[in-house]
Amino acid sequence: MMERAAEILRDVYGYRRFRPLQAEAIDATLTGRDSLILMPTGGGKSLCYQIPALLADGVALVVSPLIALMQDQVSALDLLGVSAAYLNSSLDPSAQREVVDRLRAGQLKLLYIAPERLLQAGTLNLLADLEVSLIAIDEAHCVSQWGHDFRQDYLGLNVLRDRFPGVPRMALTATADVRTRAEIVERLELAAPREFIGSFDRPNIRYTVQARGDARSQLRRFLAERRDEAGIVYCMTRRKVETTADWLADEGFTALPYHAGLSSSMRAEHQRRFLREDGVVIVATIAFGMGIDKPDVRFVAHLDLPKSIEGYYQETGRAGRDGEPAEAWMVYGLQDVVRLRQMVDDSEADEQHKRIERGKLDALLGWCEVTACRRRSLLAHFGEQRETDCGNCDVCLFPPKTWDATVAAQKLLSCVYRTGQRFGAVHVIDVLVGKTTAKTAQHGHEALSTFGIGADFDTGKWRSVIRQLLVRGFLKVDVERYGALVLTPDSRPLLRGEIELNLREDAAKPKRSRPSRRDATVAAGDQALWQALRECRKRIADENGVPPYVVFHDSTLLDMLDRRPATPAELLAVSGVGQTKLERYGEHFLAVLNAPAAAADPSASTANENPES
Ligand code: ADP
Ligand code: ZN
Repeated sequence: MMERAAEILRDVYGYRRFRPLQAEAIDATLTGRDSLILMPTGGGKSLCYQIPALLADGVALVVSPLIALMQDQVSALDLLGVSAAYLNSSLDPSAQREVVDRLRAGQLKLLYIAPERLLQAGTLNLLADLEVSLIAIDEAHCVSQWGHDFRQDYLGLNVLRDRFPGVPRMALTATADVRTRAEIVERLELAAPREFIGSFDRPNIRYTVQARGDARSQLRRFLAERRDEAGIVYCMTRRKVETTADWLADEGFTALPYHAGLSSSMRAEHQRRFLREDGVVIVATIAFGMGIDKPDVRFVAHLDLPKSIEGYYQETGRAGRDGEPAEAWMVYGLQDVVRLRQMVDDSEADEQHKRIERGKLDALLGWCEVTACRRRSLLAHFGEQRETDCGNCDVCLFPPKTWDATVAAQKLLSCVYRTGQRFGAVHVIDVLVGKTTAKTAQHGHEALSTFGIGADFDTGKWRSVIRQLLVRGFLKVDVERYGALVLTPDSRPLLRGEIELNLREDAAKPKRSRPSRRDATVAAGDQALWQALRECRKRIADENGVPPYVVFHDSTLLDMLDRRPATPAELLAVSGVGQTKLERYGEHFLAVLNAPAAAADPSASTANENPES
């Protein structure tokens, strides 16, 4: 069986070898075992159920909450020559009837289906009469009530065990800590599943966290070298999404807003443009992203902090699914710490939930301040030990300096104490640096012994100190006192000089990291051909009503540049070119590749508009 699986990998998908765990997961399903498959985004989960589906008799059910994605997935399979369809609420009755007819006639190898649809009595009865080869439950973490993607409908999926006895079930997800994993197995009632846990490392993503100064100019500097690249900019509020999108548009970017307050037609339109056009930047709240599997997102930028490391990992995981270099970039400052801590304390949730939320936030804040390899500590959070530094995060590339902040911290904590633990950062800093304001006068703070004792630092440096003391638990924000800074039990030993404290020095002006641009991997002399291949791909994509990457990934076009195939057989050797795509599009790409003008003449890209000629 596994030889046949390898054949399908080669002939249908055009790939030479399995990625880690794919072969094992396929084998488990083919031998009838239930399984839990945990792989990072872009790890190649779909093949784990598609290949067994193609090898077994009957139809495979793929349960997914992401209705918007089903159509693209089915079109992508269609381009590979695989017969698949989907059933969800977006289909009109006649289209649904057609799918049901094809099902009954045994014409489908894969059926994508929304959970609520699958669980309807009518659907279950229909399927009971058919041969079902396997059931893949995608985004399986949606069963977790602790997670941020909880879906009520997923809880009902345990009935599949009794409704389809003997049919192997696969639960797939890219997010699952140990607790969620156990929850998936339990709630879906998987029977002694084999567990395939992939590494969570995304080596092509470069992680960078900068202390927030003027966030817009920081973002401008970051984006300056990334014009024409697709990316996502996350903001916390709808309002900030809109102002940021407007500003980026003024700066000459194709930037589109996306948040839950926009009409659904506008959201759909912006998402569509993001998928279909090159170089669109989406500015969004976290409402955007679930189920976006555009593989060539080159950067994810956070202007505000997410709520947890899990959230951060998931959001940044949308970058670089194609394995090409990508950036996860974030600015972060004192304001985030204060605001997020307050949000957790203010929320309506019960104490148990609040405690969990607080723990998650603290883990993320601590990670922002790390002075060792970011990737190592990110992976450690997911229980993965990595032996070496990564060389591809800001800490590895530009090791931060630390400084002895013991005395500074003592000054600050005394000042908080002397002013009665009733004020926020702005006022405390005014007193420290000895700045006279209406408030210092009103409260008589100019007479305090701490007035002006911190004049040797500027406001920015003090904010950095406060931020880090908050993160490390030497200070806290009191919601009852409207966000005043107050001391904690840990403050005392520090004030008394019983412990020393080293803090991270915020880079005054963050160095510009050499962007790992993909275009740079295309040699100057190949640019014309590269553009011509992209145009050829775009035209085919438009004709088929699919995004360009569904036709071929960038990595496939890059491989064509490398190999310069001249015949169909040579084209077949390119990674990502399988039999069906060769038959359908081979000619077009060979015409582009073999056009004499393409290699030399920069105007070739227009000359190649019509490769048939
Ligand atoms: P996931 O669902 O885990 O996020 P996908 O299944 O969408 O990931 O796969 C990500 C990309 O990697 C897809 O474009 C897929 O075609 C490609 N891919 C999967 N398996 C392989 C493989 N063995 N070799 C090369 N590319 C692969
Ligand atoms: Zn590193």
